[in-house]
Amino acid sequence: MRRNTLMIDADDTLWENNVFFEKLIEDFITLTEPSGYTRSYIRHILNETERKNIRQYGYGVRSFGRSLEETYLKLADKMVRRETLAQIHGRVMELERTPPQILDGVPETLAYLTERHRLILFTKGEPAEQAAKVERSGLQGFFEFIEIVSEKDTETYGSLVRKYKIVKSQGWMIGNSPRSDINPAMKIGLNAVYIPHPHTWQIEHEPIMAGVGKLVIVPAFRELRGHF
Ligand SMILES: [Mg+2]
Repeated sequence: MRRNTLMIDADDTLWENNVFFEKLIEDFITLTEPSGYTRSYIRHILNETERKNIRQYGYGVRSFGRSLEETYLKLADKMVRRETLAQIHGRVMELERTPPQILDGVPETLAYLTERHRLILFTKGEPAEQAAKVERSGLQGFFEFIEIVSEKDTETYGSLVRKYKIVKSQGWMIGNSPRSDINPAMKIGLNAVYIPHPHTWQIEHEPIMAGVGKLVIVPAFRELRGHF
């Protein structure tokens, strides 16, 4: 097979990520429930606050922590408890320290792929935070380049293609998010491999759109061996 350029997503593709956020959100909702709102309403307000803060502060644990605090202050209003705020803050710090939990089959599959293709890790988020996660994962050695951007959209895919002189028909984006990995890559003419993850963040959901490139769907990271 011809040598391809494989751009590979990190969060929820190489390691677990969103499941830790989801767990914290469940606990956060429990802490906020005494304010009298339903769990689904608290979640709805949190999602809205997150969308607003992502536009202003980008992705990452800090931005997420800010959204939790804002949501709590808004909903608890006059019933705000300083201990609850401290508890929320503590949980966010804990989340930041959580080491990446590598998904099943990832290291051996990367070892196989890097022998045959050019691998670029392509992730979005807060640069220092994502770089620390990559470092602690121990997987950086499999990649020729690491790219961390604030948003994965047609523009950032376009600059990646130019920077690394990627021939689109031989370029593949591999990841779990229709919104950040599959659709923008296919829109500019790259191929894509979609690896669904059951805990993909609500904000990343989107119907998959067809492009000019090929689209492959595999159930697990190790299945990439069968395609490359
Ligand atoms: Mg992801």
